[in-house]
Parts: sequence; structure tokens; C-alpha cells
Amino acid sequence: MAVFASHSALQLVLGGMAQGVMTALFGHGRHLRLYRRFPGIRCAFVEYSGPETLDRLADEGFVLVPNGSVVEYVRPENLFRTRIRVFGSRELLRVEADQHQKMELLKKAGIPIPKTFAGPSEMDRPVIVKLPGARGGMDYRVTEDPQEVRDLQLRAVSKGIVNDPSELMIQEYLIGATMYAHYFHSPIYGRTEITGFDIRYESDVDGLRRAPVRIAEKLSPTFTVVGNIPVFPRERLLETFLDYGERFVEAVRRELGGKFAGPFCLECVVDSGLNVIAFEFSGRIVAGTNVYSVHGSPYLVLYFGRPMTVGERVAHELKIAAETGSLEEVLT
Ligand code: AMP
Repeated sequence: MAVFASHSALQLVLGGMAQGVMTALFGHGRHLRLYRRFPGIRCAFVEYSGPETLDRLADEGFVLVPNGSVVEYVRPENLFRTRIRVFGSRELLRVEADQHQKMELLKKAGIPIPKTFAGPSEMDRPVIVKLPGARGGMDYRVTEDPQEVRDLQLRAVSKGIVNDPSELMIQEYLIGATMYAHYFHSPIYGRTEITGFDIRYESDVDGLRRAPVRIAEKLSPTFTVVGNIPVFPRERLLETFLDYGERFVEAVRRELGGKFAGPFCLECVVDSGLNVIAFEFSGRIVAGTNVYSVHGSPYLVLYFGRPMTVGERVAHELKIAAETGSLEEVLT
């Protein structure tokens, strides 16, 4: 497994070790430095200098297990310029990087989603304004003022973050409890497994709880993810979540060329009527799965009869696929 040295890398290396699958961590020097400090992890370290590094890893027999840092640092378009095989769908990673295409795919899957507004003048309720890419909620804004949205659009264009104001997504701000559902789709076992749930711990929106109301009122909080917290949904919600996961896999296969394997996440809000609405997805492992990366997923034990982390689940799928001559089913 070739893994970008960040995000969920520790979990994937440990998972590879548990299954006897070799991992190469690649990244820039500043990324690799951290991982070299842990004597308990056994893996190769590879300096990343562009898509040609991935070609070299491909020649040595590695497959890319994409994480959020691949979306951020390698960029999805570069995954089409390298011959390394990707565990999962590289096409889905491209869709993930585009806020509009991303919501369209959720809609095609028949999963309830928040309303989106084509421009500030159409707004009729509080919205969250999102920049493109997997930026971990950085610089998102919640507002009900169309002028503030226009200002945000102008600023993003003038800073060169986007070329066109429409690249910012203006989405209904959902009121409810956030809950991020983690899944693993297995072509080898022919099923979509639920692996767990997390909540993102976000600055400053979560920190505001500690601020006096008169101060909090004057701030416009952003949603920069700083960590993850485990959460267990009410058991009756599991069926809804499983249903959404299966619908998502069906839509990916139907719309994006037939193949899909591996971890993914549906980022949801659960409202007071227990309605589950997805405002985002990740088509690869999410850092939220790190919350059970030592003792194992509280749900994978229900499929395998023993605790297993998502990192180990990835390595297990690859190993069984290789042993049964089925690697083509899990790679793109
Ligand atoms: P995202 O990058 O889309 O995962 O969003 C980052 C954070 O913004 C999430 O973890 C939520 O706290 C918040 N968020 C995003 N979209 C919505 C929405 N439509 N309604 C409410 N909160 C949202």
C-alpha cells in the first residue's frame, strides 16, 4: 500500500502490519519527519516529488490507498497522470473535489441533501458558504446576509482561490446534530459494511461554546477541523445509515464506470425528527476512522467476529483480492 504520510497514515501502516501487507509512506520531508519518530511502525519512507514518484511506486508493486491528503497534496487530476493503480475509484476522488458534482452524485443516489442556491440573490434562509476542495472546513462561513456572500465570492476570486464565484457552494445551513458515517464497500465479500461514526471537532465553532455570549455573538465562526470525536448513533438509525451507504455505492457504480471498493464517508446532520441529511461525502478513508484505530471498529466486529480497524480492513481486502486473483475488482 502506498499511503500519503498524513491524515490516517498511522492507522493504515498498523493495519498493513497486522495483515502482513507492506506500506510505503510518501510525502514531502516535513510530512515524513513525524512518522520516522515512531519506532513501532514498520514501513518504507519515500520523498514525494510529483506523479512520477507514484509511477516509481507502481513499478515496485505498490497500489495507492488514497486518503484526504492525496486529495489535498497530490490533487485528483494528477491521479490521471500516473500509472499507479488506486484502491477504490479515482474518478470518485475527482468528483469529491468539486462541490457541485459532489452534491449531484448524492442526489442521484436518492440520499436527502440540503438545498443549494445558485447565487446570493436566491437565498431565503441561513446558508453555509464553502470553498472547493478537501480543505477541512477552513474558511467556511455561515450567514443569512446575501451581501456577505457576495463579498466572500469576490475575496475568493481576488485571492486566486477560485476562478469563478460560482465555484463557491452556497448551501442551506442545516440545524441538527452532525454525525459522520463511515463505510467500507467490499466487492470481495459482496457487501457494504458500516464501520463507525465520528463528529468533527471544529475551531472556532466548537470553541465558541466556551466564549461568553456577548463575545460569541460578534464572531463569525469558521469550521476548521482540529480533531475527531467518536459517537454512537441510536441503534434505530443504523438501518437508515446502511441504506444510504448502499444507495451511494450503487450510484457510484452506475454513474462512474462500474467499479468501487474501500472506505468512504457520508457527512450528515440528524434533525430533531431523526431525519438524516447528507451535506457531503468523502470517497476514501476519513480521519474520523482514527477514533477507533487502536481497539478496532465497534461495527467491524459484527462482520468478522473480532475487532478490526479500518486500516486493517483495507489491507485485508487487498490481501484476499490478491490471493484469489481478484485485484481487478478493487483497483482502478
Ligand atoms: P465539510 O467540509 O463539508 O465536511 O464541512 C465542514 C463542517 O461544516 C462540517 O463538519 C459541519 O460542521 C459544517 N457543515 C457543512 N455543511 C453544512 C450544512 N449544510 N449545514 C450545517 N453544517 C454544515
